[in-house]
Amino acid sequence: MKSVAIIGAGITGLTAAFYLKRAGVPVTIYEAGERTGGAIKSVRQNGFLAEFGPNTILEASPKIPQLIHDLDLESRRIYPDPNAKKRFLVRNRKAIAMPSSPLGFLATRLFSARAKFAVLREPFIPARRDGADESVAEFVTRRLSREFLDRAINPLVAGIYAGDPEKLSVRHAFPRLFQTEQKYGSLIRGQIFGAKDRKKSGEIPRSRAKLFSFDEGLQVLTDALAEKLHNEIKLNCAVEKISQTENGWRVKTTADELEFGAVIYCGTAHKLAELEIVYGRAALPRSLEIEAAQQRRPTEAFSEIRHPPVASVVLGFRREDVAHPLDGFGMLIPKIENCKILGTIFSSSLFRNRAPAGHVLLSTYVGGERQPELAFLPPEKLVELVGEDVRQLLGVRGRPIFQHVALYPKAIPQYNVGYGKFKMLLDEMETKGDRLFFAGHFRDGVSLGDSIVSGVNIAGRVAKTFSNPDKK
Ligand SMILES: Cc1cc2nc3c(=O)[nH]c(=O)nc-3n(C[C@H](O)[C@H](O)[C@H](O)COP(=O)(O)OP(=O)(O)OC[C@H]3O[C@@H](n4cnc5c(N)ncnc54)[C@H](O)[C@@H]3O)c2cc1C
Repeated sequence: MKSVAIIGAGITGLTAAFYLKRAGVPVTIYEAGERTGGAIKSVRQNGFLAEFGPNTILEASPKIPQLIHDLDLESRRIYPDPNAKKRFLVRNRKAIAMPSSPLGFLATRLFSARAKFAVLREPFIPARRDGADESVAEFVTRRLSREFLDRAINPLVAGIYAGDPEKLSVRHAFPRLFQTEQKYGSLIRGQIFGAKDRKKSGEIPRSRAKLFSFDEGLQVLTDALAEKLHNEIKLNCAVEKISQTENGWRVKTTADELEFGAVIYCGTAHKLAELEIVYGRAALPRSLEIEAAQQRRPTEAFSEIRHPPVASVVLGFRREDVAHPLDGFGMLIPKIENCKILGTIFSSSLFRNRAPAGHVLLSTYVGGERQPELAFLPPEKLVELVGEDVRQLLGVRGRPIFQHVALYPKAIPQYNVGYGKFKMLLDEMETKGDRLFFAGHFRDGVSLGDSIVSGVNIAGRVAKTFSNPDKK
């Protein structure tokens, strides 16, 4: 049987490779970098465990626990401390717990009476059904209020995308919100009446889905996958060009050139823009023809997708040097608070073994669309800048006794207004390029859970193509 080339050894590529191998399809995984895991990076040092990229996975699909089961990792999975449920938002430079009940919402100091009234009025705002690709800011202002956008949604969007709600598309970045308005006419009505529909579909509602990690961090997952695929992974091997042949694709890397029955691209959108794709007997997809007519590399269109930089600054302190009880998941900071940081995860409250006894660990993110230039500051400047903000917001005194900084120069693809163009282009490239597939965070949702589901699904589709060559 011809083998499948998988480009990228992040969670998507590794998951796809693992399930294809289990289905008896031979695979080769090409990874440009010197390690597997992509954005996932966990480092244990001096009793602290630093997560630089993602910190948690949301178990929003049954395919996620299935993967953990298939890898025999259940005994290493850990859930957050039940006492760390609170999430804080900053208002007037104070971290205030977000309300967790309707009564709590009415009582909170986070929003004015006017903003609270706007939420109660939401079910009576008519739905917009003209098919417009609205920004998150337009959507929230229309259905709720400007204050709700500035005080709640802006920090939330910074926490998920490191993005800007004025640019992100509600349809592409928050498809469930968009569909809820389309189906139920209102977000609150959708919350109430959608429960039955979700139960029927087997979907786990995000509000009830569990978060988890592993005893030694999320890298446990990608390390376990990489171990199972040890003989199939080629590190330091960037794919530069793929060319369609009579029976599949020739893959040219920095190290070799080999022929495969199929190719799955599981890299990043900004690297896809640099990949040369030569179509053979199949016609060029129409949008690619247009790109070609403009004398650009056909895939160059993907360089238009914004990827703002993010710096992760992980700091450990003595417990007595932090005044805040850190009794929650973490805090998010609205842009109007004029802080330098986007938000902080209380890592040692969330999972118990992230800091030695008598110490705490804080993971803070800097940069994003809000202040991209800050992410590129030298590590010592970043530690200083984060120190200033956490001193004010969390009552941190003294110097950190543990510090680690990591820069993601192109962190998360922004599903901005107009993102539909890129999704259409991928669909076309897949339809016309026989046995060429695309999966991962630039296509199927930016979270780790989305990437796992994307990897599982693409493996299923490719395995089917191999068992029934007429089907794609
Ligand atoms: C700072 C940060 C915090 C995050 N926090 C969370 C979180 O808490 N929870 C959550 O759910 N998600 C979070 N995410 C998102 C999550 O990490 C990603 O969605 C997920 O890791 C994407 O996995 P992937 O395999 O699709 O891509 P990646 O992890 O980006 O892997 C792609 C791989 O492809 C390789 N590659 C690219 N082009 C080529 C080529 N031509 N040849 C060979 N190899 C190539 C790259 O080197 C890379 O290793 C966060 C992301 C970042 C950056």
